[in-house]
Amino acid sequence: MVRLDDACGRVLAADAFADLPQPDFDRAMMDGIAVVAADCASLGSVLEVVGEAPAGTHWSGTLRPGQAVRIMTGAPVPAGADAVVPVERIEPATAGAATVGGRWRVNEVVRAEQHIARRGSEVAVGARVGARGERLGGTRIGALAAFGHARVEVYRRPVVAILPTGDELVDVHHKPAPGQVRDSNRHALTALVRQAGGVAQQQAVAGDSPGALRAAMERGLAEADVVVLSGGVSMGDYDLVGSTLADLGARVLFHRVAIRPGKPLLVATVGDRLVFGLPGNPVSSYVCAALFLRPALAALQGARCRDWQVIAIPCAQEMPAVGPRESWFTGRLGAGPEGLHVHPVSGRGSADMVSFAVGDHLIRRPAHAPVLAAGGLVDVLFWPEQI
Ligand code: AMP
Ligand code: MG
Repeated sequence: MVRLDDACGRVLAADAFADLPQPDFDRAMMDGIAVVAADCASLGSVLEVVGEAPAGTHWSGTLRPGQAVRIMTGAPVPAGADAVVPVERIEPATAGAATVGGRWRVNEVVRAEQHIARRGSEVAVGARVGARGERLGGTRIGALAAFGHARVEVYRRPVVAILPTGDELVDVHHKPAPGQVRDSNRHALTALVRQAGGVAQQQAVAGDSPGALRAAMERGLAEADVVVLSGGVSMGDYDLVGSTLADLGARVLFHRVAIRPGKPLLVATVGDRLVFGLPGNPVSSYVCAALFLRPALAALQGARCRDWQVIAIPCAQEMPAVGPRESWFTGRLGAGPEGLHVHPVSGRGSADMVSFAVGDHLIRRPAHAPVLAAGGLVDVLFWPEQI
């Protein structure tokens, strides 16, 4: 259970229902006067003001033919009235028309029920106002608040151990010596995990020795729901993730995928833990996390919508033919007189996060696709973000 104000981005774990009808009373939808519609069947009818109903109060009398009650948006419509005439459509017929006893001329032909929301006409009592599996945003939170859901039941956030591997890695605070690189994946992956609704638990870098890696993995498996390794899954002599997982009795779901970048990806389970062995190169690591880890985290949170949506959008530039692996790029969305288009970002390989980061969306091109002429359609990924 979390407070509604802490629920944004969380996934609802139980359906939520309306404790009241909405509106809970016949509600005026305009500032003006409440009338008996039959009194105003022709233009210029004159009515006598017998009371006032501001929002938050209730005029307790019953309206009789020839009478009107001044009424404000959101106020209960008095008994006997069956229409509201907006203030723009009436004019004083006597001096002091605004007070009780004054008279107003109605400059429209009034329809019965106009500008009234009847009790329960928007939401019936007991109606579902939030669905299990739904990721909460401001609109749903507003809807829940209207029905008194001060606290809501949400799924637990999966805890994700972030475990970079590599003897060459140094902390973001340090200047790398020759041959070293800063451990940037730790931070990129932490951001992605948080965006996906998980709790990132950063662990110390594991060195490229079987003992160090095994100890780090055991810690991750003990403390987190998901262990995300980066580096060490390729075919090099120091790529020890595969063999260490085998020692731990992991069940490998798959190792290597036909995508570019990201080919070495390894996904396994150890008991009820999920393990992602991401490639070390920053762009590859991020693409794999976006395509494989992110939907897994959505599933672990019980989210009904686990995946992105693919929308075909015209590409602003020509794109080269694709090799045997499905290929991923980033692009920037833009809009012109001809509509939406995407500008692919030209990267300099799978270590170049700087150019990759210029894009705001992922673009997918199928394996073996031929050259794409400018204006041709490409698949752009959109992650659901609840408004
Ligand atoms: P690996 O998959 O371990 O062979 O690493 C491939 C490349 O990615 C190497 O150039 C590594 O230095 C680099 N790399 C590995 N881990 C990280 C990391 N956490 N942050 C930035 N670069 C990394
Ligand atoms: Mg490495």
